[in-house]
Amino acid sequence: MTTPNHEQCPLCGSGVHVVTDTATGYQQGMTYTILECEGCRSSFASPLEVSDEIYARIYANVANVPGYNRYDRYAREVLARRRPLDYLMAQEESYWAVASHLRQRRGGGERLSVLEVGCGMGYFTHALAQDGFTVTGVDISSEAVSWAREQYGPYYACTTLGELRARGERYDAIIMNQLIEHLPDVHGFLAEAVSLLAPGGELLVTTPNKSAYPDAAWETDHPPVHLWWFGEEALTYLAERHGCTVSFIDFSPFNAAYLRPKLPPVPPADKRPVFDARGELLSSQPLPPISPLRSLLERSGIMDFLRAVRSGFVTDNRWEGPRGPICAAVLRREE
Ligand SMILES: [Zn+2]
Repeated sequence: MTTPNHEQCPLCGSGVHVVTDTATGYQQGMTYTILECEGCRSSFASPLEVSDEIYARIYANVANVPGYNRYDRYAREVLARRRPLDYLMAQEESYWAVASHLRQRRGGGERLSVLEVGCGMGYFTHALAQDGFTVTGVDISSEAVSWAREQYGPYYACTTLGELRARGERYDAIIMNQLIEHLPDVHGFLAEAVSLLAPGGELLVTTPNKSAYPDAAWETDHPPVHLWWFGEEALTYLAERHGCTVSFIDFSPFNAAYLRPKLPPVPPADKRPVFDARGELLSSQPLPPISPLRSLLERSGIMDFLRAVRSGFVTDNRWEGPRGPICAAVLRREE
């Protein structure tokens, strides 16, 4: 296969420049060039392609892969929670943003049909279903979908957006949580997703926020797992190109309630691959088990109170205001 030589942004066609040509890849021995667009300001990896094999390796080791090990924990914890959606909202701003937006819309009395695309292990779909939403989770991995059905119930399908469209399905809200940065063909995927929206429907897109780290080269997962790094400008361009209006979810309430330290970007020379050249994990990072005391404090809600108290005392080096390390865009299809 020939490596495409990007002279133009694959999203908007503007000129690009090289940010670095020695970006660390997910697997040892892979090196990527990172380019930045002078129009939509997106950054992307070259070559802009990924094989299924790397995801098979990640999910075969999911409990030990840094960055993915938490998903394994959430998948188990939601089953032990009385309000699994509240639990997930307290863990990560992506879940907080999507769930608070959907709850607000439902508050107006709307009965919403929701699709989660790329639902993976399915815990977020499960949490939304437990909260009363009519929700379906879809993923292209048949293993993930059968696992989710077994754990949580019949809310899942192993299918593509094209098949859903052919069946005439339409949704009031389509969730793409930390998915878009993985896709080689962003336009093709977004076009299909938008075509599944009912009139006035919304696409909820969360992704690592490039504008949170204006001086960093690539402060997101190594390519080819993450192929893109977007900020508000790129998401605004994508919305317009696909006939949608855009707004961004304000993280001020999340940042005020939960203490999120602002971690400095890692210098490119210090970045290490996740897998060695043979595809074995370079360092296994299982999350420590949750102690019985902590579990009790979490379930009783005391932990939330302790967090709020701690949060009130820390004023330095934390995320504050409407922005944060994750960007959450609402792309609305006009009636
Ligand atoms: Zn561009």
